Amino acid sequence: MINLETPRKFEFLVSQAHQVATEIFRANSRKYDRDEHTYPKELDMLAAVIDGMNEGGALRGAGAVGVGEGNGPEPGRDRDGNRNGSNIANLLGLTELSWGDVGLLLTMPRQGLGQAAIAAVADDEQLERFGGKWAAMAITEPEAGSDSAAIRTTATLEGDEYVLNGEKIFVTAGDRAELIVVWATLDREQGRAAIKSFVVERDNPGLILERLEHKLGIRASDTADFRLENCRIPKDNLLGSPEIELGRGFAGVMQTFDNTRPLVAGMAVGVARACLERTRELLSEAGVEIDYDLPPHAQVAAASEFIAMESDWEAARLLTMQAAWMADNKKPNSLQASMAKAKAGRTATDIALRCVALCGSIGYGERELLEKWARDVKILDLFEGTQQIQLLIVARHLLGKTSAELK
Ligand SMILES: Cc1cc2nc3c(=O)[nH]c(=O)nc-3n(C[C@H](O)[C@H](O)[C@H](O)COP(=O)(O)OP(=O)(O)OC[C@H]3O[C@@H](n4cnc5c(N)ncnc54)[C@H](O)[C@@H]3O)c2cc1C
Repeated sequence: MINLETPRKFEFLVSQAHQVATEIFRANSRKYDRDEHTYPKELDMLAAVIDGMNEGGALRGAGAVGVGEGNGPEPGRDRDGNRNGSNIANLLGLTELSWGDVGLLLTMPRQGLGQAAIAAVADDEQLERFGGKWAAMAITEPEAGSDSAAIRTTATLEGDEYVLNGEKIFVTAGDRAELIVVWATLDREQGRAAIKSFVVERDNPGLILERLEHKLGIRASDTADFRLENCRIPKDNLLGSPEIELGRGFAGVMQTFDNTRPLVAGMAVGVARACLERTRELLSEAGVEIDYDLPPHAQVAAASEFIAMESDWEAARLLTMQAAWMADNKKPNSLQASMAKAKAGRTATDIALRCVALCGSIGYGERELLEKWARDVKILDLFEGTQQIQLLIVARHLLGKTSAELK
């Protein structure tokens, strides 16, 4: 059973996040949409707030605690045996902040999806060294997007160091983060099992920034392309075990996605809520009121469409909460993480565009944020695994097929 009320211990976190979302994110939304590649300096003051949340155990970077990993103090269970820990806390906080502005969220100091990789596979010493730092995640390469098993970046052990060579593209917060978690292979011949994650300091001279992308949406967030040229890192920066365990396939690094996908789904839920709330206000100003006591056929068409969108949004939200709750309760959640990401990414994109349509020219114009949200939201159905890839993963789980059997 999932307790669907916000756990009381997280109420303060949610209200703090809402305040930040309103006063800092919304207030600067349009400015950094126009000023792509300019660092939003207003976010610096947030670092202190985030440190406070971290100390309270409420927000442990975007990654939270890994499924089945004992890497952190165990939050208490409630009387029904449920544990609401850092995955739910993160989800609630990130959803609220995404309601404010998802581009700004993605460039918030001390955050970054790289922390998810660290939380998923790091040992205690590494958690101590890297925890709480702003960490980006670099998986994608020119020849390896959805198929991350095709990664070509290599890591070669030389004495006490790994030497990394390759290319990484579309790294969110890549320019601004303190650390980049780079996926590379120890041995291309040995396939998935040889792919490991390595922590590279952003100022490593072997990590060369090639360019910053210009994008459809989330323009406040920097997206960087890198070349790794004889990039030397201490051998202790390999996260998890250096052994190539052929039987385990991708297991180590893939746990990252069990953590990050519910969070990206939560971001989609947050943006969609922003769209719904503003659309409802605009409909009300236009004289369209929603009456939940009337059946859909008795509503005006706009109200009926609005109610349908709201119920779709609720389904996405519940799946997302379930996936994060399972992670907190140490239940394997790969299937639910993909279901949540697929449902929330698709639903939020759909809602954002339908809200623009319902509001007509007002929805499409720059005086409202609706047009911006419709651009921002699409990425949430794309990165951390596209819609199609999530559905493929769900199908594999339900049919009991391996990745080799169902491509
Ligand atoms: C703004 C932005 C930020 C990003 N941030 C990061 C980041 O921080 N770190 C990082 O590593 N990557 C990041 N990415 C990369 C992102 O994760 C990839 O773009 C994504 O995984 C898709 O890979 P691709 O672009 O190579 O598309 P492809 O893999 O070439 O896919 C193209 C199309 O084919 C479909 N497709 C592919 N394989 C299959 C299949 N087997 N069955 C059905 N359909 C399939 C896909 O769903 C997609 O529609 C970012 C991308 C963007 C745009």
